[in-house]
Amino acid sequence: MPDRLGPPREAPLFQRLVLVGVGLIGSSIARAARHLNLAHTLVVVDRDEAVVARARELRLAEEATTDVATAVAGADFVILCVPVGACGAVAEAMSGALSPGCIVSDVGSVKKSVVAQVAPHLPAGVDFVPAHPVAGTEHSGPDAGFASLFVNRWCILTPLEETDPAAVQRVQAFWSAMGSDVEIMSAQHHDLVLAITSHLPHLIAYNIVGTAADLETVTQSEVIKFSAGGFRDFTRIAASDPTMWRDVFLHNREAVLEMLARLNEDIAYLARAIRWGEGDKLFDLFTRTRAIRRSIISSGQETPEPDFGRRRSDSEGDDTVRASPDTSHR
Ligand code: NAP
Repeated sequence: MPDRLGPPREAPLFQRLVLVGVGLIGSSIARAARHLNLAHTLVVVDRDEAVVARARELRLAEEATTDVATAVAGADFVILCVPVGACGAVAEAMSGALSPGCIVSDVGSVKKSVVAQVAPHLPAGVDFVPAHPVAGTEHSGPDAGFASLFVNRWCILTPLEETDPAAVQRVQAFWSAMGSDVEIMSAQHHDLVLAITSHLPHLIAYNIVGTAADLETVTQSEVIKFSAGGFRDFTRIAASDPTMWRDVFLHNREAVLEMLARLNEDIAYLARAIRWGEGDKLFDLFTRTRAIRRSIISSGQETPEPDFGRRRSDSEGDDTVRASPDTSHR
């Protein structure tokens, strides 16, 4: 399986690509799109002047601005890279400036809510192809991005019934060029799958780290000192961006609550097995879960190293591939 970005394309896929939101995901797309020559003109937008200034310093794009309406004028591809809860407001702000033929997409970790927020604002002649690159790290902001983030990772597209298949194909080609494998499914199914593979694990991590912080009989310094016993791996996930994850839970409420109810039942089963000394039940479960970890490694979605594949040499530049890009998300 290739693990590096390919060579730049001779001809770009899009003329004017606008990325709204220059955080981890937006800046990673910018870096990859520049490296691969995926757009003739690359434009980044952020509401924060300081982020726009940083994007200029980093030379992430040809143009950087806080004015979304000016940025999207004449664009043939716009990707919303803002927190899920901000997508509706951004769509509203840019809707009057979108040209017919433009494709609008996003990268939100929840799909049904993003479709409901964005679709009503898009004028006729503009296609909406919602997307979710299942790749990320616990870091945020324009400095956190890197060009190879999406290499060998899945990108899920959830087109609407009325979306032009040609637009879906163009977005698929864009993500394939960035090194991703693309899968298409309904927004509803996406939200259910991600609730168990991503959203619930984050909720558990936030919860366990919060519980440890609240303990009175075990000191904070002991929690940190002995963290290698398992706690440490939860803290990486629990360091993820608070705004992004607040929005994910509020916008995928139904599916997360369904998965949480199942988890509670299963935890009760485990508690009962421990209470009654039913070691065979624990052993059976732990054997099944170990097999799942091994199949994730053999499918190339993780490396076997005990740091969970997040090692990065400081000498690597932005356009090089991390030894093992994060696989957990999101
Ligand atoms: P991030 O690093 O926090 O970046 C988000 C950027 O969007 C910030 O610069 C933020 O500015 C800006 N922003 C917020 N509201 C805006 C608005 N109304 N107009 C313009 N800019 C706005 O977040 P991220 O990790 O890149 O996540 C972005 C999206 O990607 C989210 O929808 C998330 O669900 C999705 N996603 C994330 C991951 C991941 O691992 N992080 C993986 C896959 C998908 P402020 O700082 O001023 O708020």
